[in-house]
Amino acid sequence: MPPLDATTLLTVIAVIDAVACGVWLALGQVLRIAPRAARRISAYHGLLALAWWPAIPGSMERLVALPLDIVAAGLLAAGVRGLMRVRYQAWDIVAVVVIGLLATAVTAGDPDLSTARAVSNLAGGVLALMAARDIAVGAGFGAGITGVVMLPYLLLAGGCFWRMGGLLGWMPAGLAPAGLGANAPLAMLRLAVDLTIATGLIALVMQRLIARVRHLTRRDALTGALNRRAVEEHLARLQALTERGRPNALLVLDVDHFKRINDELGHAGGDAALQHLAAVFGDALRDTDCLGRLGGEEFAVLLPETALGGAMDVAERLRRRLQERPLTWGNQLWPISASFGVATMRSGDVNGQGALSRADAAMYAAKARGRNRVLPAAGEAEFA
Ligand code: GH3
Ligand code: MG
Ligand code: MG
Repeated sequence: MPPLDATTLLTVIAVIDAVACGVWLALGQVLRIAPRAARRISAYHGLLALAWWPAIPGSMERLVALPLDIVAAGLLAAGVRGLMRVRYQAWDIVAVVVIGLLATAVTAGDPDLSTARAVSNLAGGVLALMAARDIAVGAGFGAGITGVVMLPYLLLAGGCFWRMGGLLGWMPAGLAPAGLGANAPLAMLRLAVDLTIATGLIALVMQRLIARVRHLTRRDALTGALNRRAVEEHLARLQALTERGRPNALLVLDVDHFKRINDELGHAGGDAALQHLAAVFGDALRDTDCLGRLGGEEFAVLLPETALGGAMDVAERLRRRLQERPLTWGNQLWPISASFGVATMRSGDVNGQGALSRADAAMYAAKARGRNRVLPAAGEAEFA
């Protein structure tokens, strides 16, 4: 087999980027997967395909290829940031791109292209590092996989800075790399890095899709609280901890006279009341506690690492908060209250279902005693 020359490799990179440009366009615009990030990534691949296209004459490097490189690196960084949902603003990325473009323009009078190429490499390296940082902060993978996804960006940044050092004469002659167009090993490395970046981006978007599906299958659509199945899974995990001696507790609560809310305000008003309750409780709970909707207007709150006293305090706090914050519906305020049953989890229960039914019974007892109150499950005092 004849050795691959750099020009052939650059053509391969251009073709792969052109295909990736179309794939991301389809992902974003047709399948509506992360559309904004997909548009940026599609544009990144498209511009790279243009920049690497062998038909662009060398004389256009300063005017076309180098600016395209800088903008493409910026789009990649912005696309990664969108996928990571680190934060949506990209002003720092725009700033690096604009400074890079201006610095390239400033060198326009210089017949030697080295400074312009060095600027383009500096901007590309900085933008690759920014993308790597966003992946480190935002990828939902374990440390090992996050490292693998970050690696090509770090290699790209390293390559850019290395080339920049060579162009500016900071490297001993033997260590300064030739440009990709005349350097088959470097072009091969660049191809590998680009392919790894392209596959890594697909992995990131898959991860995002999986997270979305997982969210949808575990959440109640109306209130955003965990749904019954997710509550039961969580309860089974807590039961395993209970068997190892950890204290866990739960509350069951049911909105008082909810039928009246539906009758007076209509079904939409009833729905708004449930959303209001979930919002009020969400603000009042620790991150480790979790609110779930068992069905209708009945909810559970799972309280890890909490004994009876603590759970009673939480229930009382939630009860008071709800009472203090009536629902605003149209231009009227509608008071809402709920009745709470509290139970601790005990070893020997199957998947925590015993605690759930003890708390449920206590909640009905609280209803019978006049509603808008908190009761511990029968027998809790002896266990406390
Ligand atoms: P109590 O104080 O005894 O709990 O009285 P209640 O009126 O709350 O009693 P009940 O549990 O019998 O009524 C619950 C009502 O909640 C019946 C049902 O139509 C309504 N409901 C259940 N799910 C939803 C929902 O998702 N949205 C709305 N708007 N209403 C719902
Ligand atoms: Mg009710
Ligand atoms: Mg009910």
